[in-house]
Amino acid sequence: MSVSVPNAMTIDVEDYFQVSGFEKKIRRANWDQFESRVVASTERLLAVLDDANVRGTFFILGWVAQRHPSLVRRIAREGHEIASHGFWHQLVYSLTPEAFAKDLADSKEAIASACGVVPTAYRAPSFSITGKSLWALEILVQQGFKVDSSVFPIRGHDRYGMPNAKKEIHWIQTPAGRIREFPPSIARVRGVSVPVGGGYFRLLPWGMTSQAIRRIQAHGRPAMFYTHPWEVDPGQPRIRGIERRSRFRHYVGLKRTEGRLRRMLSTYPFDTMESVLRAVESRTTDANGASCDAAETLGENANLVASQNVAFKENEA
Ligand SMILES: [Zn+2]
Repeated sequence: MSVSVPNAMTIDVEDYFQVSGFEKKIRRANWDQFESRVVASTERLLAVLDDANVRGTFFILGWVAQRHPSLVRRIAREGHEIASHGFWHQLVYSLTPEAFAKDLADSKEAIASACGVVPTAYRAPSFSITGKSLWALEILVQQGFKVDSSVFPIRGHDRYGMPNAKKEIHWIQTPAGRIREFPPSIARVRGVSVPVGGGYFRLLPWGMTSQAIRRIQAHGRPAMFYTHPWEVDPGQPRIRGIERRSRFRHYVGLKRTEGRLRRMLSTYPFDTMESVLRAVESRTTDANGASCDAAETLGENANLVASQNVAFKENEA
C-alpha cells in the first residue's frame, strides 16, 4: 500500500465546560466563573505534537482567543494552522443566519487580533452544519472562508450528522461561491462505523481506530482526526448534574487519550489540514491535470444546497 498523503490532525480549542453536552447546565454568561484549564491542556497537546514533530490545525474558539491571546500566538509560532471554531460554541442549526454570521465574524476578529492570522478554515461546534443548517456554508464563503470541516457523514448521533453526505474531500457550491469540505472521517471496521477521533478514540479499542485509518488510507484518502484539549486532562473538575449520556461521552477514557495520541502519531503520518489539502491537490493535478472527481461532487452538492435553500426559505415565510 502506498501512502502519498498524510492524515489531518485537528484540535478544537475550547475549555472543558464549554462543550455542547453541558450547555443546558452551564450558561455562557457564567463561563468566566469556572476554573480555566484550556491553556495548560492545549500546551500538553502542543508538547505531544512537538515530540512527534507533527503540525496540526487548531480550530480556536473566539472566546478562548479573546481571553488567552498568548496561547493563540504560541500555537501560530509553533507552525500550526490557525482556524475558527466560532465564538460562543453555539450549535449552528440553533441560530438564525444573522446570528451565525455575527458569531463567525466575532471569532475571526478575536483570533486575528490575538495572532495576526485571519482564519480561512472553520469547524462548527459539535459538527452542527447538518441538513438543517447548510445555509451556513454560504455565509462562510461570504466571510472569506475556503475550507469547512463541519459536515459529519454519520448516522444515529443525536446532535450531529448528515448520513448521506460525502465521506471524501469535496467542493460544495453555494450562491456566494464554492467552499471545500473536509469531513471528519468514519470507516467501517468489523461491521461497526468507526469515527476517527473524539470520544470514539477513547471509548473503542485503539485497534479499531488504527484499522479505520488504514482502511481510509487504503482508498488513497487522508483520514481526518479530531480531538480537544480537555480530552488530555483527566484531572479536570467534574461537572455535576449532567445527563448520563453526555457525562459518559465526556469523561470516558480521558486517561487513555495522551498515550494513544502518541502511539497514533508514531504509527501514521499527520499534518495540518492545509498541508493535506495541498498534497491532495498536487496529486490530483499530477494525475489528470484537473480533477473530474471534484467537478462531479460539485454538481451533486450544488443541487443539495439549492434544495436546502429552498426548504430554508419556505420555513422563513
Ligand atoms: Zn467544540
